Parts: sequence; structure tokens; C-alpha cells
Amino acid sequence: MSLQTTYDSDNIFAKIIRGEMPKVAVYEDDTTLAFMDVFPQSEGHTLVISKTASSVNLLDMPADALADVMATAQKVARAINRGLKPDGIRLVQFNGAPAGQTVFHTHVHLIPMWEDRPLGRHASDMAPVEELEATAEKIRHEL
Ligand code: 5GP
Repeated sequence: MSLQTTYDSDNIFAKIIRGEMPKVAVYEDDTTLAFMDVFPQSEGHTLVISKTASSVNLLDMPADALADVMATAQKVARAINRGLKPDGIRLVQFNGAPAGQTVFHTHVHLIPMWEDRPLGRHASDMAPVEELEATAEKIRHEL
């Protein structure tokens, strides 16, 4: 997938927004959604997306939708900090398959980091839904 690819409204995140695929939600408002990554690289790995922008990546993202996503990312990062007490939080965003993007609906990753815990591989090991739900609850509690 090149950087210039057109938006596919059947991508997995579009289906999650429409309620056609399950999610473990952390936070939702009129314009954004934050939910647990099912292949987490660490405990609390959360994705933040726009619900209003049909955007493939950073390059075609309207600035107002980008601002909404970043505001939600900050809100959720603060809740992750309070709820999970990581040593750091990585904010990551990939554009184009060669850069590591695998889902072509613009999103940012929030990846909590601990000094003594190795990071898992990207989009690799599926977590049990009960585990994701328990972690999401700790984050939601701090929102
Ligand atoms: P990207 O590689 O595009 O930056 O990130 C896509 C992310 O979506 C990956 O971290 C991957 O684990 C996650 N992912 C892929 N499919 C699903 C899914 O069906 N549900 C959820 N919650 N996350 C997914």
C-alpha cells in the first residue's frame, strides 16, 4: 500500500466504528474512539482513531480531525499514566506499508513502556479479551 492509496471503507477500523466488529473501548466522544489493540505490544496498548475522517494516513488527514485525535490521545495517555503507572508512553503513527502501517485508517498508538519489560512485536500476539477488558477498565477508571 503506497502513501497515496484511496480509503477503503471496509477496513477493520471502519467496521469497528460502525459496530460491525467487536472492540474493547477505552474512550469515545463525537469525533474520536480509543480502544485496545488486540495484538498489544505491552499492557495497555491503545489505538486512537477519528470517527469522522475517512483518512488513510497523516497525509490526507484533515487538520481538525487530527487535532481531535491528538486531544483524545493526550486524555487517554494521562489515564494510562494514572491507571497503569508505566515508566514511559510511546506515541507511534505509521504511514504506508513500508513504514509499518497495516491498517489503512489513520490511527495513533499509545504504547505504555516499563523499564524491566521487553516490548512485544508489532501486530503479532493476540491478547485474551478478558485481559484487554481488565486493563481497559483500569484506564477508563482514570478518565
Ligand atoms: P498499524 O500497523 O497500521 O500501525 O497498526 C494497526 C494496529 O491494529 C496493529 O497494532 C494491530 O495489532 C491492530 N489491529 C489489527 N487488527 C485489529 C482488530 O481487529 N482489532 C483491534 N483492536 N486491533 C487490531
